[in-house]
This record gives sequence, C-alpha cells and structure tokens, in this order.
Amino acid sequence: MEKETTLQMLERFDPVMARLLQQEEDRQRNTLGLIASENYASPLATFLEGSVFTNKNTEGYPGRRFVGGCEFADEVENLAIERLKQLFGCEHANLQAANATIGNISILHGLLKQGDTILSMSLSHGGHLSHGAAFHVSGKMFNVVQYGVSQETERIDLEEVKQLAQQHNPKMIICGASSYPRLIDYAGFAAIAKSVGAFLWVDCAHDVGLIAAGVIPSPVPHADVVSFSTQKTLRGPRGCGVILCRQALADKIDRAVFPNIQGGPKMDMIAARAVLFKECMSEEFKLYSRQVLLNAQALAQGCLSQGLRLITGGTDTHLIVADVTPLIPSGKEAEDILNSVGIVTNKNMIPFDALPPNVSSGIRIGSPFLTTRGVKEAEMYEVGVLVGKVLQNHNQPEVLAKIRRQVAGIAEKYPLFAEEWLPW
Ligand SMILES: *Cc1c(COP(=O)(O)O)cnc(C)c1O
Repeated sequence: MEKETTLQMLERFDPVMARLLQQEEDRQRNTLGLIASENYASPLATFLEGSVFTNKNTEGYPGRRFVGGCEFADEVENLAIERLKQLFGCEHANLQAANATIGNISILHGLLKQGDTILSMSLSHGGHLSHGAAFHVSGKMFNVVQYGVSQETERIDLEEVKQLAQQHNPKMIICGASSYPRLIDYAGFAAIAKSVGAFLWVDCAHDVGLIAAGVIPSPVPHADVVSFSTQKTLRGPRGCGVILCRQALADKIDRAVFPNIQGGPKMDMIAARAVLFKECMSEEFKLYSRQVLLNAQALAQGCLSQGLRLITGGTDTHLIVADVTPLIPSGKEAEDILNSVGIVTNKNMIPFDALPPNVSSGIRIGSPFLTTRGVKEAEMYEVGVLVGKVLQNHNQPEVLAKIRRQVAGIAEKYPLFAEEWLPW
C-alpha cells in the first residue's frame, strides 16, 4: 500500500479543513487577483514557514538569548540581517516583529514619548492606520497632525508638509502610504525633518520590492528609520515587520520590539525571510519588478480607455487608485460586481471622498499578483479593459457572463507562480 500523503491525512482527519483549503486554492487559481497589497509567496520561503524552526523559542537576539539551543537559530537570524543590510545598504536591521503594524508600533514606542507630536499622511488620503489614525493605538498615544494630498494635483504637497512641520514642531515625520500611486520625494521630506529636528520614518511596506530591485528610488539614504512588510511587492509569505535604522537608534528599536512589545519571535518566519532576501538579490527578481512597473502602466491604460478616472492620472509604481463613480455609484458596488466575475479588488477611499469609508468612491488595484503568475503587458491592458467593461455593464447579466468566461480563460493560462521568476 502506498504511503498516505499529508493532504490525504488531513482529508481523513479533518475533511472540513481539507475542503476549505482546496476551495481557497481553486479561488486563487480561477480568479484574477488585483489587490495591490497581495502577492503569491515565494515557494522556497513558504516551504520554510512551518519548518522545524517553528519549534524553537528564541527570545532575545543572536548571541543574547534567554534560552539555550539557539546556535542554529542565531546563524539564521544573522544571515537574514546580513542579507537585509546588503540588499538595502542600511546600518541596522530588525526583523522580529510579527507583522509591519506591530513593527510600526514598536518604532513609535521606541523613539517617542507618549504625547509627543507626529506628522503623518491621513488615512483617507492614502496613509496607513498605524501612522496615527484616530481609532488606532498610534493615534491615541500621540498628538497627531496630518497632511494630505493637494485637491488640485492629488499629489503630496511638500509646502503643506513644511508649513505643518514649522507650525507643530513634530518629533517624528512619517511618509510612505498604502494607496498613493506616485513616487515620494524622500530627500524633500528629509530636509523638512532636519529643519525642525524631527526623525524621518519612511514606511515603504507597499513598494519595498521595487526599491529592493532598484527600479524605484530608495528611502534608506534619507531616513532615520525605514519599515516594511514582506508579503506585498517583496513577494514573501504573510507576516514579518522589518525595521531598518541608523546604528545610533539600533538599541532603542531592538528593545522596543523585544521585550517591550513582543515576546519570542517566530523563527520559521525569520528563516523564510533569509531565503526570501537572497531571492530578492537575483536577476530574476529585478526582471520581475521591472515587469510589475510595466504591467501597472498597461493596467492603467486599459482602465483609462474605458472611462475610469485615475487618481493623479496614473501611476509610478505597482498600484492604481481609480475613481469608479463615472461608471458605477460606489467602490463597494464596484468591488462586489468585479468579484462576481472573478476579478478581485478592494474598495478604496479617494482623496476628498464624498462617500463614507465603508462605501467609498474608488477601488485600488495593482500588478504584483498577476505579474507573479507571468501575465505581461498585452493581457494586463486587457484586464484593465475588462475592469472598465464590468463597471459599465453592471446591470447587464449577459455581458457579465461573457466577461466571467474571459476572466476564467486568462486565469487558466497562468498557474499561480511563473517559473521564469524562480532564481534556482
Ligand atoms: C500593508 C501596510 C502595513 C501593514 O502591514 P502588515 O504586515 O499587514 O501589518 C504597514 N504600513 C503600510 C504603509 C502598509 O501599506
């Protein structure tokens, strides 16, 4: 008799979970994922998640642990840190935070005192909730002043940032966003931070993969602290908040992550990131990142051809924020109708949105996901056209049925992770 596979074992022991696992895999295969913050994770890095390193308690840092038996774990964590330094040219790196939001809270906790003033981008204009949103712990612990984008250009206005900085004297200035489609002037932010004696923290969770590949400029030379997640354009498994900083801030950052905010790190997560960072140094990853940019341009052109209005008129990165109201009443309705044909997106506020956040006037879409599957510009343009056609025809069931078949056709052509991007 043949040996039972792990999947067969799961089917026998927990058929409900086995079914859900299969259904999620089918969903990912059969739909076109355009969520700008998602990606298909590196197969080798994914292999290391859940490996025997998950059994190891490693409270502390390499060479300074609170438990024995850490000799290989120390090597793993040092390897990951060295690769981060090589990849980003930074002085110090910490990758123990369980996710980027926890890492962000650690930065604020480590470098500031409760009640200090921070200057950050507002959530409704593209910022992140961990940058001081009123309902978030970061918003409750600090005096938060926020900048937005200019109503006219929909871009960050450095004059506004400078005025707010001079008026409020923040201890920390934060830039980096979740739904801002343009490059950020890090040197400009650094000059403002310097002029008021504030730290500059850049949270590049979204476009860090493009930065690692060198296809867009890096914030590392300009910022005191840089933070990011690893599951977006960096194409790693979910979880892990990386913090890079100047050597002078290293102790404060390390102490904030452990023991102030977290206990022991997830060692299998760190092992997976060590491999991921090696992958990010490869020629294949550079080519992938270049393709992400080309594909975002093609997707934007496809959307524009169907009458969608793009915030700032287009994109410099992997993501696009589209005002859907020329074609359909809201982002919520757009998300639902697109999902019904197998195009997965998320509703998103647009700057100066007239609708509440749970409805919104826009959607946010991006190219990292489909690029990992091997989709190139011509079909990316086609996907943009389909997005527009779905929204135009949201009341036409026959048209939607036809589009659903076209979507399934594209999805079937591209398995989940294209071999051309594998560097091994
Ligand atoms: C996605 C994102 C985060 C949060 O990442 P998690 O790992 O999900 O906590 C933080 N900052 C920005 C700017 C993001 O876009």
